[in-house]
Amino acid sequence: PASSPDPTPADVPSPTPGSPADALLTARGLRKSFGDNEVLRGIDLTLHRGEVVVLIGPSGSGKTTVLRALNGLETPDSGTIVVAGGPDIDFAPTDAVAPRVRARQRLALRDRSAMVFQHHNLFPHLTVLENVIEGPWRVQRRPKAEAIADARALLARVGLADKEDAHPHQLSGGQQQRVGIVRALALRPDLLLFDEPTSALDPELVGEVLLVIKELADEGWSMVVVTHELSFAREAADRVLFMDAGAVVESGTPAEIFGAPQHERTQRFLARLL
Ligand code: ADP
Repeated sequence: PASSPDPTPADVPSPTPGSPADALLTARGLRKSFGDNEVLRGIDLTLHRGEVVVLIGPSGSGKTTVLRALNGLETPDSGTIVVAGGPDIDFAPTDAVAPRVRARQRLALRDRSAMVFQHHNLFPHLTVLENVIEGPWRVQRRPKAEAIADARALLARVGLADKEDAHPHQLSGGQQQRVGIVRALALRPDLLLFDEPTSALDPELVGEVLLVIKELADEGWSMVVVTHELSFAREAADRVLFMDAGAVVESGTPAEIFGAPQHERTQRFLARLL
């Protein structure tokens, strides 16, 4: 769509796949404990421009915590996160880091990515349009008219042009989640993070939301998706990471992970689901 803000357009020169230059996001050695519970045990993750990485794995394996760390919502105990064009953010394992520094680190990450949550978290008292412009207008301080024009274009793109004056409770769960996606896009992030975006939906509404995500992937958005929808992972992922107990056990193309998983834990996980 010509009118849409597309952060990964065709005019970006495509570097050699896999070269460091095309890494949009690099996370190295992320560790995180909650009390005695070591939730992330050294996570490495690279997202190249235009790439779709899908995280799968058992409940409690740390997938959501990884996303939250990438978005600055969770502070790792140690490790490094770099988003291209931004600072190297080192989470030094020391308590000497000033809160001010931590806050700056979180902001540096939060501005670069937008997260779509399991529950859409729309403001119930605001209309769809008001929900979408809240971030761009009030937080990012872009001109209101520009935020509205952007929001309308994005709503049209996900088939919700006629819903801008509706309140969230007047929409189906699938429509609400599509508004949630539009709200993330309206922030014009460099990358999108999806945290089980369909797991709170009735089964018959899952498809329409996955379709929107698939279309965004086809348009070249860079994204990390946590999902239990393995058919989506098969179709949309460039790379699948299987996590278990706070570690990436195995990663590969969908064909590799689903067709010939190497690790016994991956095999067991898939055998239960397929
Ligand atoms: P997944 O997304 O794979 O289901 P999570 O990242 O949500 O896994 O959780 C991993 C582990 O971290 C779980 O044991 C969970 O209970 C724990 N956990 C997550 N967030 C917190 C928190 N804020 N405080 C304490 N424990 C947490």
